[in-house]
Amino acid sequence: MDLLRHAELSRRAVLAAAFVPLVGCAREPAAPAGSDATSSTSASGAASPSGTPEETGPKDYGEQAAELAGDDPVLLALVAAFTPGWLPPEAPDPEPTRIFDNVTVVGTDFVSATAVETSDGVILVDALESREQAAGILVPELRSLGVDPARIKYVVVAHGHADHFGGAQYLADRYGARVLMSPTDWDVAAKDSSPDVPERDLEISDGQRLSLGGTTMRLPYTPGHTPGTVSPIFPVWWKGRRHTAMLWGGTGLPEPTSGKRDYLRSVIEYAAVMRRLRVDVELSNHGQTDAGLDRMRALREGTAGDQNPFVLGQARAQRFMQVLELLVRDKLEE
Ligand SMILES: [Zn+2]
Repeated sequence: MDLLRHAELSRRAVLAAAFVPLVGCAREPAAPAGSDATSSTSASGAASPSGTPEETGPKDYGEQAAELAGDDPVLLALVAAFTPGWLPPEAPDPEPTRIFDNVTVVGTDFVSATAVETSDGVILVDALESREQAAGILVPELRSLGVDPARIKYVVVAHGHADHFGGAQYLADRYGARVLMSPTDWDVAAKDSSPDVPERDLEISDGQRLSLGGTTMRLPYTPGHTPGTVSPIFPVWWKGRRHTAMLWGGTGLPEPTSGKRDYLRSVIEYAAVMRRLRVDVELSNHGQTDAGLDRMRALREGTAGDQNPFVLGQARAQRFMQVLELLVRDKLEE
């Protein structure tokens, strides 16, 4: 268990390191060319109260992000996660939680795996950090909520880092699950020092639709955190009512400026896809970056009442992306 904890801690540090701003990096132009400019106007416009005189000059992107977040706990958690020096705090591991009629989340305080049930089996998004976590956490926690791990048909790995692919090969070996990643991130994973890199299996193409048992999951690329990050969009049901969920596949900003620029472009393009598909549910695989762990607890304890705290509504889901856009622009300016 010490070893596990150690692995978790180093992953934690890796995730956090991604948020630490580069020292002495060149100042970047505020808005990349092309369609980015339009969206930047809307995001900035939404964040800046019109006609407010500024004594201290225009607000920077970080201040705009905080202002747009207001007192929204989900958006505030995102802002906090982008604060320099932020480390995911040690917290008790969450209990497994059925967050929608067809969706169960299992994992640790650091990283989660999301099981989407269909009539023909389960699509699992991410597989925790290791074979040990798959056997010791993922499988028993799914079982405890009535999800049969033998029904896992696909493991969609959102990006090629060990805290997401670590348990995938175990599920492939034991249950015959097929493992999917973007081709670029199969390459990323192949270079990882983890002993649990899965054998190269299925490749995700940009925007691919993965269908199982009448449920279709869309898999758009959102390069940035890694060059081949994928952020699934899929239908969820709450008390019989249909909603549409997104799961942001990789949160931490990469160090290279080009990677940050890719990240920014992905945020803007993905927000447009979300608008088109009327996405009203926001999910993450790191539950401390979006108050996901708190929202899981609220569901378990029944303190959310009839509301599902993961249903943000379309406008607030868009605001989540606007805050993320401003936070990335802020880091590009450093
Ligand atoms: Zn990662």
